[in-house]
Amino acid sequence: MKYISTRGNAPVLTFEEAMLTGLARDGGLYLPQTIPTLTHDQIADLEGVSYEEAAFRIMWPFVGDAFTEDEFRGIIARAYENFGHAARAPLKQLDSGHFLLELFHGPTLAFKDFAMQLIGQLFEFSLKRSGNRVCIVGATSGDTGSAAIEAFRGLDAVDVFILYPHGRVSEVQRRQMTTPVEANVHALAIDGHFDDAQARVKDMFNDFAFRDAVGLAGVNSINWARVLAQVVYYFTSAVSLGAPHRKVSFTVPTGNFGDIFAGYIARRMGLPIDRLVVATNQNDILHRCLSTSEYRPDGVIPSISPSMDIQVSSNFERALYYAYDQDGAAVAQLMDELRQGGFSVSQGALQALRETFSSGRCDEAATRATIAATLASSGELLCPHSAVGVKVAEDIRQPGTPMITLATAHPAKFPAAVEEASGMHPPLPPAMSDLYERSERVTRVANDLGAIEDLIKDRTAQ
Ligand SMILES: *Cc1c(COP(=O)(O)O)cnc(C)c1O
Repeated sequence: MKYISTRGNAPVLTFEEAMLTGLARDGGLYLPQTIPTLTHDQIADLEGVSYEEAAFRIMWPFVGDAFTEDEFRGIIARAYENFGHAARAPLKQLDSGHFLLELFHGPTLAFKDFAMQLIGQLFEFSLKRSGNRVCIVGATSGDTGSAAIEAFRGLDAVDVFILYPHGRVSEVQRRQMTTPVEANVHALAIDGHFDDAQARVKDMFNDFAFRDAVGLAGVNSINWARVLAQVVYYFTSAVSLGAPHRKVSFTVPTGNFGDIFAGYIARRMGLPIDRLVVATNQNDILHRCLSTSEYRPDGVIPSISPSMDIQVSSNFERALYYAYDQDGAAVAQLMDELRQGGFSVSQGALQALRETFSSGRCDEAATRATIAATLASSGELLCPHSAVGVKVAEDIRQPGTPMITLATAHPAKFPAAVEEASGMHPPLPPAMSDLYERSERVTRVANDLGAIEDLIKDRTAQ
């Protein structure tokens, strides 16, 4: 399998190269040259197999030549062995026809562990084989950073630098990033919003001299291997509700469009998904775009679901690439217009997007009300992100097609908001119960590319 850029103007790479690179050199995002499909029988045969076995069968066609079958099975086994639930991604019923996919049983209590734990094992395997070193730089609105640090802490061939917006992540998220003691972990608090952190990371990738000097590697949700890892739980959950013999829909709390784009890939692979519903909080650029065709960032308003406080949704570029019939030049042009303030999606492309995606928005009051109402009706305590999903799903779902809403984080990751909404204090799982006692280590940085690059060069110079 070969990988191409959404902007059509970067070298074609192997799976391993695309994984280690992250962002393409033309500014685009890597995608497989073709999307492999599973037959009806292959999907039906996923019923009853372990999560790891399903993961192997679903991802194998994408990685093929990078590892042997045994190597890849070993990587998957190590990635998921530290999850706190035997099913990895258990499905709970909320109401008739409405299900919750719990994706928060990984070591940092958010769905990002599914991808990041796999990426950690993939990097470790590849770098050991090649003898190379890399410097991982990522931007986070909270959960990516903690998941990346957890996946890479203590690995020999990797330094990990995570930029998070100072004062804009939850205390649990911050502590998960600032308390690891390993010397290869560097938490950087940037003065700005998540979009600033993400923009500086993109700038570093576009500074080729810097990129090559430090061996920059990206594990943000733009990394194809992350999208791929997330495809798996769409299959396992749909199959447990009767796919491929029956259609299901998904509602996905969305920020950077990575998680829901994995659902799009699952659909293209042959999984009978009826609707993929984009659920946004008050930062609703994706909902506005799907409703009106206009994609115009207008400033982030901090919310109680901070991992979705995003206005520049990087993975949306991948969906646009397919909506524009894989025309890299058209995508490059849209991204140029975005730098000038925004773009409008063509009527044809909008129609293509709407064939798969629906969307809805949930404001702060409705998020809180949904946390309380869901606790009362089902006993399930939702994190604010998952509550956004549940509310939008309730508004949109149709009788006859089961709806699966993705629960993207554990409520204990956002205890203040959850307690305010529900009156219940969500306790941390035992493995993390001393998090508030551990000492923190963090460097405050200005929103300034040169200063951040100097710091990284300094810390990685041997
Ligand atoms: C990252 C994150 C999201 C948004 O996921 P995207 O892939 O960026 O759309 C939603 N909820 C939680 C808890 C997250 O950590």
